[in-house]
Amino acid sequence: MYGSIARITSSFIDVPGSISIAIYFAGCSIRCPGCQNKHLWDRDQGLSMSIETVEALIYEHPLAEAVVFLGGEPTDQLDFLSSLCCKITDKKKVLYTGREFEWLPSHLTDQLDMIVCGPYKQELHVNGWPASSNQRVLLKDQGSWITQVT
Ligand code: SF4
Repeated sequence: MYGSIARITSSFIDVPGSISIAIYFAGCSIRCPGCQNKHLWDRDQGLSMSIETVEALIYEHPLAEAVVFLGGEPTDQLDFLSSLCCKITDKKKVLYTGREFEWLPSHLTDQLDMIVCGPYKQELHVNGWPASSNQRVLLKDQGSWITQVT
């Protein structure tokens, strides 16, 4: 199975307190006004990569404790995202999505440890994290999701 990936890089900011590998998915169908990542809206801007290739690139960074999926919109490539998650069994898995948590299928959320969700809203912009006040940060705690107060 192949996905369209814009870039893969190490990150110190996307998962608080963890070194992570950030997988930037190419393409976003949500298209929030004021989006800072418009250059990632077009799926054709990405490189077609197999799950095995992405997995190998993730494990080139043995010190990374987490993998973060962002973009672009990772859930626009839901089958690829879910299958990739299945391959990563020894790292924390974090999803940034413009969709609401309630939209996400359980076969995906079951595999994740943290989700930052909701569309970016210009009128609710904050100079902090997440970027607009409607966005929620959800953490899995003993199998249940709890909303983190940011
Ligand atoms: S979901 Fe994310 S990438 Fe897509 S338009 Fe909104 S802010 Fe931009």
